[in-house]
Amino acid sequence: MGHTGNPMEDSRSRFGDLFGASPAPLIARAPGRVNLIGEHTDYNDGWVFPMAIDRHVWIAFAKRSDPILRVHSVAFKETREVALNDLESVRGSDWFSYVAGVAWAMASSGIDLSGIDMLVDGNVPVGSGLSSSAALEMATARALCEASGIAWHPKKMARLGQKAENEFVGVNCGVMDQMASAAAQPDCALLLDCRSLETEDVLFPEETTIVVMDTGSRRSLAASTYNDRRASCEHAVEILRSVEPEIRALRDVDRDLLESARPLMDNITFRRAVHVVEENLRPLALAKSLREGSFELAGHLMNSSHASLRDLYGVSGKELNLITDLARRHPACFGARLTGAGFGGCAVALVASEAADEFIADVHTSYTAQVDLPSEFFACSPVGGAGLVDIAAMIDTRSPITPKE
Ligand code: ADP
Ligand code: MG
Repeated sequence: MGHTGNPMEDSRSRFGDLFGASPAPLIARAPGRVNLIGEHTDYNDGWVFPMAIDRHVWIAFAKRSDPILRVHSVAFKETREVALNDLESVRGSDWFSYVAGVAWAMASSGIDLSGIDMLVDGNVPVGSGLSSSAALEMATARALCEASGIAWHPKKMARLGQKAENEFVGVNCGVMDQMASAAAQPDCALLLDCRSLETEDVLFPEETTIVVMDTGSRRSLAASTYNDRRASCEHAVEILRSVEPEIRALRDVDRDLLESARPLMDNITFRRAVHVVEENLRPLALAKSLREGSFELAGHLMNSSHASLRDLYGVSGKELNLITDLARRHPACFGARLTGAGFGGCAVALVASEAADEFIADVHTSYTAQVDLPSEFFACSPVGGAGLVDIAAMIDTRSPITPKE
């Protein structure tokens, strides 16, 4: 197996070694994401503001003539296969279920799938809150569409990816991750209304950079607490409906209405609901502040979001609090907050671009002086959603005609 210096080309040659056939010239690729603000609002039908980042899952693939789905994961060092008429048999929570689940969701929406061989690789860290799962789902959907001759509809595929994760894998996620991975536009963050799936592309300003700060801690309690928070939100809605029957989700509630129902609620339910109702205003506010270049305000919104997640929603953790505190103390930092479901995983900081490298070095040093975990800091840039990459063309344009100075 040769190394070309292009990891996607390496995946193609690896595909050849493994499956004894050449893959399509195109690679299906989908990005991970960070959520800039609007945390735990997605399953409340609210607003979120994710940004697809320059970390991807990519898939070298080839159409098969028989109805078999065969997949190798480089990360999990394993090849699995299943007949397309027997997808149900792999329902579960391991990596192959994410892939088979997308095929299952597509098939159950009436899409006629062709058999396919796929080699899955990528550089989205797995399980740290940057949504490697949605990147895997959307890259899978892109490859399956291409092999089966189906047009690519980002929103539809995002919904099907969510269905796969909810109903096949059994993870109760909202639709944000899949929408960011499928529908983001280059250079933009994606303001998303999770009820209507209406989106607005917000150009991300060049003067600022998003730095991802992976605490190195993992989210051991995440699944059960996540379900518990969802239950609190549903409980709040039930109570609020006794005041205003037309309410469907916390998205429909403002602070005044919530206050009026306060006597009917236990304190925990109330605090959870306050977080959601206030957090739901922040995506629009952050989008506006970025458009206007009001970076101090943008940072303030991120800090408020973190405080609310920590104090009202109860989903932060020791490492997330420390890493965001250290970040805020740095002069290049406008604001910082945990991103993703919480407890562990990643935080994001909004940083002046010219000082991003210095910020990363300084804050990482002070964090590792206090925490002995495999933490990682990196700057990321906004990228477009799932696509097909023409490796041959990429390599051609890269071949040096005039050597660089
Ligand atoms: P996150 O989405 O935050 O990275 P999740 O727990 O939601 O974390 O999803 C991680 C799971 O997605 C992995 O355990 C694995 O099953 C699947 N997955 C992600 N990336 C890959 C990959 N490159 N190859 C195979 N499976 C992957
Ligand atoms: Mg995920």
